Amino acid sequence: MKVAVLKETRLGERRVALVPMGVKSLLKAGLDVTVQAGAGLAASISDQEYEEAGATVAATAADALRDAGMVLAVNAPSLEDVAGMSEGTILVSFLTPLTHTELVRALAEAKITGIAMELVPRITRAQSMDALSSQATVAGYKAVLLAANHLPKFLPMFTTAAGTIRPAKALILGAGVAGLQAIATARRLGAVVLAFDVRPAVKEQVESLGASFLEADEEVAAEGEGGYAKELSADQHEKELTLLAGAIADCDIVITTAQIPGRTAPLLVTEEMVESMRPGSVIVDLASESGGNCALTKSGETVLAHGVQILGPVNLATGIPVHASQMYSKNIVTLISEFIGEEGRVELDMENDVVGPSTVTHDGQVTNERVQNALSAL
Ligand code: NAD
Repeated sequence: MKVAVLKETRLGERRVALVPMGVKSLLKAGLDVTVQAGAGLAASISDQEYEEAGATVAATAADALRDAGMVLAVNAPSLEDVAGMSEGTILVSFLTPLTHTELVRALAEAKITGIAMELVPRITRAQSMDALSSQATVAGYKAVLLAANHLPKFLPMFTTAAGTIRPAKALILGAGVAGLQAIATARRLGAVVLAFDVRPAVKEQVESLGASFLEADEEVAAEGEGGYAKELSADQHEKELTLLAGAIADCDIVITTAQIPGRTAPLLVTEEMVESMRPGSVIVDLASESGGNCALTKSGETVLAHGVQILGPVNLATGIPVHASQMYSKNIVTLISEFIGEEGRVELDMENDVVGPSTVTHDGQVTNERVQNALSAL
């Protein structure tokens, strides 16, 4: 079967779905790989490297898609690309299926099997296929570099002939995948790090990375299903804001990563808190695309308010395209191995505990219940 790898078309996107190492794995599994020319260039991979790994390079997306049985991408392909796919093709990529309803309908109508990377279940067995986690790791790391670049200070402590420099203080809100990586990166750069999360279980992980966990006088905890956070009650939210207001004024950097699956991001940094910070301080809001954790965040923009820079970056993972692509490629190859049998034969099994939940459309139907609900709510 021919597997096509598309050149990403999203504005600013530099990642590619499959790196040459992934090409070799797919060839070994009995598949053929065709890569659209230039697909890897922004991630420092030349067409020649793909050819050396055993892939064919096609001049255009249409050429890559012709006769392909499977299509791999990072972002959802355009409706035009979907029109170029044949019936029965398997598409594996981030699809944002709960909001990208036009695409979901087009996939179902064209009888394309759409497998959404964001729907890979977060079970232990599927950790190596979890692109949300791998890309959040990249985003957490990059957020600290962004903050360091914007901060008019050093992060580490220095003792020099020109005097002693005190270390910067960073507060990380939300200690999930991105938050833990942000803590580790800020610590490596020498900052003093504080962190808070509503899941008490992460306190130990925060401390093992050399950061301090903010302790509330009264418990603020909201652990929900599957190890995720759930929304706080109004009373608990008030307590959290009081706790954060007491800590934030003294921080040079605040990185917010707090999210609740399927909800708007919780408000954690109010305008009064921003005003209490020293001028020159930096806030990086990784939740900007789902509403933002800071009241003043504007998604995709940098706001200057009360002397504080508030960054609302989108798609941060694309900023480290080489390793973000390498990790994504590993995730996708591992996921594909769930339904590729002997000699590259496709054996899609909807009873498979990873493939079933990740599949959005199959055989002309929308197969995922949450996506069906999202469609019928329109
Ligand atoms: P996420 O992006 O949904 O949220 C980020 C963090 O924000 C979470 O730690 C959450 O607790 C926190 N948060 C939510 N509301 C908050 C509030 N009001 N104040 C402070 N913090 C708040 O989460 P994520 O990083 O994708 O993952 C969260 C957890 O899911 C992981 O730590 C883990 O337990 C689980 N997980 C499991 C797997 C797996 O087993 N394959 C993979 C990834 C994640």
